[in-house]
Amino acid sequence: MCTEMKDPYGRTIDYLRISVTDRCNLRCSYCMPQGVNLTSHDQILRYEEILMICQEALSLGICNFKITGGEPLVRKGILSFIEELRKLKGVQTVTLTTNGVLLEPYIEALKQIGIDAINISLDTADPIEYRQITGFDLWSRVHASILKSVESGIPTKLNCVLLEGGQDRILPLSCYARDYPVDVRFIELMPLGLGRDLGGLSPDAARKQLLTAYPDLHPVDEKRGNGPAHYEASTFLKGRIGWVDALSHKFCQTCNRIRLTSTGILKPCLCYDASYDLLRELRSGDSVPQICEKIHSLVRQAILEKPMEHCFEKTGRITEHRNMSEIGG
Ligand code: SAM
Ligand code: SF4
Repeated sequence: MCTEMKDPYGRTIDYLRISVTDRCNLRCSYCMPQGVNLTSHDQILRYEEILMICQEALSLGICNFKITGGEPLVRKGILSFIEELRKLKGVQTVTLTTNGVLLEPYIEALKQIGIDAINISLDTADPIEYRQITGFDLWSRVHASILKSVESGIPTKLNCVLLEGGQDRILPLSCYARDYPVDVRFIELMPLGLGRDLGGLSPDAARKQLLTAYPDLHPVDEKRGNGPAHYEASTFLKGRIGWVDALSHKFCQTCNRIRLTSTGILKPCLCYDASYDLLRELRSGDSVPQICEKIHSLVRQAILEKPMEHCFEKTGRITEHRNMSEIGG
């Protein structure tokens, strides 16, 4: 049974986002257009090390896990890892965030091992724009993955980053929510990595587009996952429209998460570089019980030192300089 651990601001922290790799098979213009400096394999957490961290997190009340990256599906053995994680005693949900390119052949197996939800990132419904944004002509593979994920019955959401000049992408993307029971979530561009220098599209501008097709769009008070998104419904839509608007609608007071990078850095908040090096502890040469005790105490410390809020609105105060693919967006 999940116990409960609160941070200094009374927030229950029950969610760990785990980046399993810094590598990716796409080159999104706002994320890693030139790729990343690849970290050597021995600096990346092994699956058994991640599971050890998850065990300690579970003992502190963290019972929801998101697998992300880089692109999690490019890492060998990812399915067995997710299966092992899903089986750990006390786990409530294991969900996946993926760009969807490699997803389709994994879907049946993911369903079998009990994945709780899949988020697929897609910033445009137009194959040519997709190539311009991601660098690859792979839109149809992502589209096929979305359809198969929906058909499998796994709760499926789309993540669509609001990019500057992207107002014409909003309605075509919303059609996934119109035609399928899929939540289409629009994500405000965050000033991390290249996002610091790029303009985004405002959620208000995106919503104006949506109202032209769904005039009865209205907020609903529904919890549809572990994240901070808020949702809207319309009689014209089978799914919901979601908003992840960290800047225009600061949701820090409901934050429930900490993050683990693929190199074993535990982060209390996306915005700041404050972090705890779990890889060093895992490879310290100490006995397993000693390592577990140290990991337990560092996870606890990360929760107890969570800052009250991000400062994305004052970019000069952001101390995190890694990009989203390194941290695990
Ligand atoms: N590769 C996987 C994917 O694209 O879903 C998982 C990792 S990716 C970093 C996770 C999510 O972060 C994606 O939906 C991506 O669009 C989003 N993302 C990346 N950089 C961002 C930024 N600066 N602001 C907001 N979202 C961002
Ligand atoms: Fe890769 Fe995801 Fe970054 Fe795109 S957003 S480059 S798919 S990690």
